[in-house]
Amino acid sequence: MAEIRFYHLTARTFEQTRTWQRARAAWDRAAWEAMVYPNAAPGIAGARLTIPNGFPDPFSNAIIVTAASLEAPQFDAAAPLEVQYGSLGFLVGHELTHLLEAHEFDASGELHDAWTPQDLEAYNPRRACVIDQANRFVVFGTSHVDGAGTVDENVADLSGLGFAYAALVHDLGDRLHQAGNDGTTPAQRFFLAYAQNWCTAQTPEAAERYLRSDHHAPSRFRVDGPLANLPAFATAFGCRAGSKMVRPEADRCQLW
Ligand SMILES: [Zn+2]
Repeated sequence: MAEIRFYHLTARTFEQTRTWQRARAAWDRAAWEAMVYPNAAPGIAGARLTIPNGFPDPFSNAIIVTAASLEAPQFDAAAPLEVQYGSLGFLVGHELTHLLEAHEFDASGELHDAWTPQDLEAYNPRRACVIDQANRFVVFGTSHVDGAGTVDENVADLSGLGFAYAALVHDLGDRLHQAGNDGTTPAQRFFLAYAQNWCTAQTPEAAERYLRSDHHAPSRFRVDGPLANLPAFATAFGCRAGSKMVRPEADRCQLW
């Protein structure tokens, strides 16, 4: 613990000095300007080191991935490609979606809407589909997910997972469904790696508090929600129509 506190202090000192040094300096696109929410570590700099997470920064049209995202158990450089795509690849896709949705900014970070009114007209019902689905997720008793309050994150999950899978299809081609020695296929391992991102242990009290205060859906629904919308998931595991994790086509959300 003492060692971790020392790292936090060192990181905070570094960050503070860096901030002071940049006062009145010209804007540097490569600098990390986006705030990292210091919700689980003392200070922003500490959070950058210890929380595996990513953040969109529309002002520099960039995404920031914290150093902790490139450490175990979140990331393993020796893992097969499909496992990396299901974890880090998904995170990149998720943050890219946040940037896409910040369409009020153009590529150079100026306030200039990159979408036309027609784009919005076509897109908004797709977002509404995601809101509607999340509203129907019952967490316990009569408590359910707040669809509108979590929509940005639920959209980023569904879309980011789709992007990561598309990249995997591009890289693996026919090998996607070839079973290895352990009987699993790369496509299955991709989805398992994704689900692994959300392994969570929570007391009922913490779950209740999370439900009321966080703009992400509870972990279980971050897995079940997007996967049930993706035909690729059903294909990977041979799920039949009518299965719990296969939404009927009329009820399926598709963003792009
Ligand atoms: Zn997000």
